[in-house]
Amino acid sequence: MFVFRAFRSAVRAASGLVFPSLCLGCGGPLADAAPICASCVRMLPRPAPEALAGQLLARDCAEPLARRSVALWRFDPGGTVQRVQHALKYGRRPSLGIPLGRLLGDATQRHARGWAPDVVCPVPLAPIRELERGYNQSAGLASGAADALACETEDLLVRTRSTRTQTTLAFSERWQNVAGAFARSPEARPLAGVRVLLVDDVVTTGATLLAAAQPLLDAGAEVTVAALAMADG
Ligand SMILES: [Zn+2]
Repeated sequence: MFVFRAFRSAVRAASGLVFPSLCLGCGGPLADAAPICASCVRMLPRPAPEALAGQLLARDCAEPLARRSVALWRFDPGGTVQRVQHALKYGRRPSLGIPLGRLLGDATQRHARGWAPDVVCPVPLAPIRELERGYNQSAGLASGAADALACETEDLLVRTRSTRTQTTLAFSERWQNVAGAFARSPEARPLAGVRVLLVDDVVTTGATLLAAAQPLLDAGAEVTVAALAMADG
């Protein structure tokens, strides 16, 4: 019995670390499945309105795609946005992405006025990374965004090769690292004229998002990209 209790409290203690039951911003109680309360969400840093568009345009991204794209928060090393992103990515709780994805869907609706997706697609992880982590953190975001935008999610993309982690690479190396790393999934629907919202958790240089958008654009889709946070701006 003692062993069982000790085990149970150890599980609870561990799950308190990985399953936030308190707001990752203020430490207050949480009313729903989101890892952060509504008043902290309102205080999170936001990027300058055209920051992501500017970053993508500097990379020869088509203007309409760049102008519609959305980054909800500004990444704040050591701050609340980073804690939320870490909980999503490493917390072993894929459902955490759903309420965050709803916020991203609402932001897309506000920002890309008049544009609504037919389908939301997560940026796929390399299979080895998804195996290690047990899930793709962007898939939960895509589900939540699709929920807010009243459409479906579909895995339209596959990774054609594993890439080195972007975090250790210099800015210019990141492009070479991800170029051609994605392809349209063989099971994907025909994409000519289909409006696709492509979702990722964090955008750092835009390299991964644009590399993932390319096969969708090549297949004739109209693409908008959305990320929970962007690294600067
Ligand atoms: Zn809070």
